[in-house]
Amino acid sequence: MKILQKIKKAAKQSKVFRYRTYKKINGVGHRALTDRIFFATMFSLLFVGALILFSNEEDKEIVNVAQTTEQETPQPTEQEVVHSDLGDDPVIEEIPELSLADLEKKVISKEAVLSTYVLKSGETFSTFLTKSTIDQAEHPKILETISTLVNLNTLPQGTIILSFVDNNKNFLGLAIQLASDEFVAIIKMDDGNLVPFTHTGQVSIQQERIKGKIERTFQGSAQKAGVPQSIITQITNALDGEFDFRSNMRKGDTFDIIYTKKVTPSGIELDIDKELVFIGLQNGKKKIYRYLYKNSKGVAGYYNPLGQRGEQTVAQRPVKAIPRLSSPYGWRRHPVLMYRLFHSGADLACPTGTPIYAGADGVITQIGRKGAYGKYIRIKHAGGFETAYGHMNGFRKGLKRGSRVKRGEVIAYVGATGRATGPHLHYEVWKNGKTQNPLHKHVIAGYQLTGFEMEQFKLMAESIHPDYLEHRFGKNPPIPPKKPHEKTKN
Ligand SMILES: [Zn+2]
Repeated sequence: MKILQKIKKAAKQSKVFRYRTYKKINGVGHRALTDRIFFATMFSLLFVGALILFSNEEDKEIVNVAQTTEQETPQPTEQEVVHSDLGDDPVIEEIPELSLADLEKKVISKEAVLSTYVLKSGETFSTFLTKSTIDQAEHPKILETISTLVNLNTLPQGTIILSFVDNNKNFLGLAIQLASDEFVAIIKMDDGNLVPFTHTGQVSIQQERIKGKIERTFQGSAQKAGVPQSIITQITNALDGEFDFRSNMRKGDTFDIIYTKKVTPSGIELDIDKELVFIGLQNGKKKIYRYLYKNSKGVAGYYNPLGQRGEQTVAQRPVKAIPRLSSPYGWRRHPVLMYRLFHSGADLACPTGTPIYAGADGVITQIGRKGAYGKYIRIKHAGGFETAYGHMNGFRKGLKRGSRVKRGEVIAYVGATGRATGPHLHYEVWKNGKTQNPLHKHVIAGYQLTGFEMEQFKLMAESIHPDYLEHRFGKNPPIPPKKPHEKTKN
């Protein structure tokens, strides 16, 4: 039984067990797979252990030896004895068994510092060396040694280089990742020599989940909870045009964020390539969920739980000020012409020069003077929507017909050109050729995943967040409808 316990203990300490906790998201069902590998390994270990036990049962002496020789030095095997009997041993250079783990252990015990560098377009290994804090005197020797392992001119953009220095910035070693599980590396030995070696070990992708509450601002609360700045930027970009963190988040609202990070075989987190894979916001009674999905062409986007992306509301008051509604949409007596006519837009009174922004993503179809509208812009959006802007003082420089604009991007400035009694923006929203009340909520439907892509998305989303189904269906998922033939059977 003692052996069994030992085997169990060893298995628990082994990498197999630790890797089980790794959660890779590219590769659906990876968790289940590692679980299976883990259990299979455990069972085979137990089986082998049992075999040893039973096969040795008759020969109790050996069992006892196995239990008691723990501290004893191993006896030389027959072969080794024969070899030393030859007398004239060839001088075999002792090749130390090297691995990155040796360096990483020093990082974990704070004897060394790890820095990560990712080669950018046009950069070479020498670029990295020049930018690094490694002593220049070491550069030629490093270049010479690492060149024996890899052609440094062939390192592609995106190659990860790990370098290790001690707390006095003395060079300890470095590693270049050639493939997801292959490194070439050098370690500086105690005698100052650099020893090259290759190392296999996976830089794994792990998920990090951070939940928190809004105290004052989203930015501040997320930072306090430990969300990296690069992820905060990705969050605001992912919800750009859909959600305004500054004006909409309230104290007590909550956030739930999942991102991926790269981790070395020893568990050291790399400060690169962090990617937002899920954002959940509870904003009052409103819940917003977005999942990262890369489609089969490799194009990434953030989708809601129903597999829809890019849903956007048309801005109701596209000015960088709090405007006074000087004339609403609908029938009215015209202030200048003094007869009843239909007002096709909303008049938003603001001081001359107030910036006007695009109400939604789109393409400018008209820009210039247009009769009573004065200086005028018209933008075409997705889903049959258009917006138009009149009486403006001037346009933002560089805009022309065909220019693409994003929601929130400044396009012009408030004025009183054309038929206007004072500075205001005349703002129109059109859908399929008909004017709409700009002060109503207009949602431009985005892109909907279908078929194979939708199935992939669902699998991906389930692997990202444990509560995906709840995000999709709410607390009570709908009961699937009965198939017609089931009804007729009754
Ligand atoms: Zn008007």
